[in-house]
Amino acid sequence: MRLRFVAFSFPLFLFACGKTPKPQVADSALVTAADTTSAPDPDAAAPAPDPDAAAPAPDGAAMTDTTPDSTAAATDFKVLLEQFADLRILRYRVPGWDALSPKIRVLLYHLSEASLASREISWDQTHPQGLLIKRTLEAIDKTYKGDKTTNEYAAFEVYLKRVWFSHGIYHHYSNKKFEPGFSKETFARLVADSDPAAFPLAKDETPAALADRLMPLLFDPTIDTMNVSLDAKGDLIASSANNFYARGITQQEVEAFYADKKKNGGDKPVMFGLNSKLVKNADGKIEERVWKVGGMYGAALEKSVAHFEAALPFVENDNQKAWLEALIKYYKSGDLADFDAFNIAWVKDTDSTVDLIHGFIETYGDAVDMRGSYEAIVQVKDPESSQRIAAISAEAQWFEDHMPYLPQHKKAQVTGISARVIDTVLGTGDSGPTFPIGVNLPNSDWIRREHGSKSINLGNIVTAYEEVKKVSGVLEEFASGPEAYERIRKFAPLADKLETDMHEVIGHASGQLEPGVLTFSDTLKNYASCLEEARADLVALYYLPDAKLAELGLVKDSELPKAGYEAFIQNALLVQLARIPLGEDIQEAHMRNRHLIAAWAMEKGGPEVIAKIEKAPGKTAFVINDHAKLRALFGELLKEVQRIKSQGDAKAGAALVESYGVKLDPVLHKEVKERWDKLGVAPYAGFINPRIVPVEAGGEIVDAKIEYPDDFATQMREYAARYTILPVEN
Ligand SMILES: [Zn+2]
Repeated sequence: MRLRFVAFSFPLFLFACGKTPKPQVADSALVTAADTTSAPDPDAAAPAPDPDAAAPAPDGAAMTDTTPDSTAAATDFKVLLEQFADLRILRYRVPGWDALSPKIRVLLYHLSEASLASREISWDQTHPQGLLIKRTLEAIDKTYKGDKTTNEYAAFEVYLKRVWFSHGIYHHYSNKKFEPGFSKETFARLVADSDPAAFPLAKDETPAALADRLMPLLFDPTIDTMNVSLDAKGDLIASSANNFYARGITQQEVEAFYADKKKNGGDKPVMFGLNSKLVKNADGKIEERVWKVGGMYGAALEKSVAHFEAALPFVENDNQKAWLEALIKYYKSGDLADFDAFNIAWVKDTDSTVDLIHGFIETYGDAVDMRGSYEAIVQVKDPESSQRIAAISAEAQWFEDHMPYLPQHKKAQVTGISARVIDTVLGTGDSGPTFPIGVNLPNSDWIRREHGSKSINLGNIVTAYEEVKKVSGVLEEFASGPEAYERIRKFAPLADKLETDMHEVIGHASGQLEPGVLTFSDTLKNYASCLEEARADLVALYYLPDAKLAELGLVKDSELPKAGYEAFIQNALLVQLARIPLGEDIQEAHMRNRHLIAAWAMEKGGPEVIAKIEKAPGKTAFVINDHAKLRALFGELLKEVQRIKSQGDAKAGAALVESYGVKLDPVLHKEVKERWDKLGVAPYAGFINPRIVPVEAGGEIVDAKIEYPDDFATQMREYAARYTILPVEN
């Protein structure tokens, strides 16, 4: 599952821990294992677009002070590349590339190729004519001979980029079909003035006939409106336009088909339906067309497998070899029991530098939650973050002993939770261009129970989001003044990471219940998730200025904790309001928790701790006047939230959330939204991948280089040229 939790400073993420809807824009949200233990948040279902994202800066937004990087000249690495429709295109780096051995780099090359080889599966899964549309638009893009300077052509280019971005004609987030932005007549003319040989024509079909065939689907909003329908009133399968079920199959038929299988699945059931399309055969009987070598999508999967096989001589250790071989076996057999065997082998491999997610994994794209969307994430361990987390984790007992809790609420023996931070080398399919920022797999319940799971944070993706925030104008707009803005700009990204680390590693893990008290979700019910997140956030806020972090070498500048506090308050009381519809209260657990903490501290401390000011006419801001007192207040509130949890004090817990976490000042809310809108920041973001280039010697691949392309369309064209493997109809 994709996890998304977010903690601090500017991040505005909505998702609570647990299974979430298809993950989307995630500026600087982190998630780890700790979050899987808390209850899924019932309010987290309808995330609004993330308002805290970056718009192109007028100066081209070159990043000047990024994190240390041994590979690229840090001075001119542009993170934010372009913005179109409601999307921004960013890019990320792999900071540790140069320090990897050539052998590992070759391994990464093959895994990347194995990932890209099957990328077109995504368009076919999204709609039965997804590849027909993609190839048609690409043919125009490649061969159109007419005037490319017109507004209509510009609209076509945006449309194609959107189709590339979301693997089809549906918005990657809302799942609703988006409109072309140009007329049918324009479409006909674009097709007519392109090279007929470039189009994926059916037998005896003319380009004009192809255009006519596609017109209704592209231009009529009433046809195949939703890619995934979650409207429980109708037939979920019939009303979803994706390609997981042959047209005409009903939800009832699907349920009947799997009912017996599920009943007889035993206590270690495979994930039924995960790797196939459901069709009716010539006799009208329902059957699975399995996605495997020699089966549906066989041509692409065969190429993936060839690269996996080529990767085998380059594995780091036996554990890694075991899962790679298991994955090959699974793609060849299509047997879901082999997929389980792969997952069991995969969770065992926790020490390798390289890791991989590959295949039909998440089921958010299927309205009935069975069929997996293709995705791949190629990863390397992030040495810097892993060190940071290890340092905190090793001191977990020290942190527990120094918590401001009542003595009986401290754990005598606590173990820090170790989350793994990785750097993405490549993401595709369901995980690219839009990336999750955290993933926890496998999804099989019994494997998780018996063999465990792996959680990762995508460190370099989060870093890219943080970098891009610096040029979005958001920080400056909502900071209390130039001094705070500079401090936040400079120190908040690291403060944010430390807070997230502490939230996960020592926050959720700390504290204990009094004897006989039930779990938090039993005692606090719908308030539990908000209060649990508040507890973990408060642990992080409480320790951020502590001398212990300096002693551990994690904080080197006393301005850093100040920046962390300022960013937190600014986000909690201002920025996050931008994503709440006018007239509504705060619903989502993480947003409530942040507001609760800030509003409580403001009330208790008064203006000598946090003052509300008007920094310019119509521009409200919050100034922290006493950081030390604010820390003491965070400690006081932490003690109280822990007491509520430890004693199961439902009344006090509910009062805390209702008094400080829910209600908004409508005047301020409106002001924030207006200020936000003026910044013109596109709400969704995606990434282009680095290019992994093989280095050959004597006819063999002996090393690989990394390059950082900077144009989205160019990368999509390059991919189209190299990985057009599947037929248009599968
Ligand atoms: Zn959490």
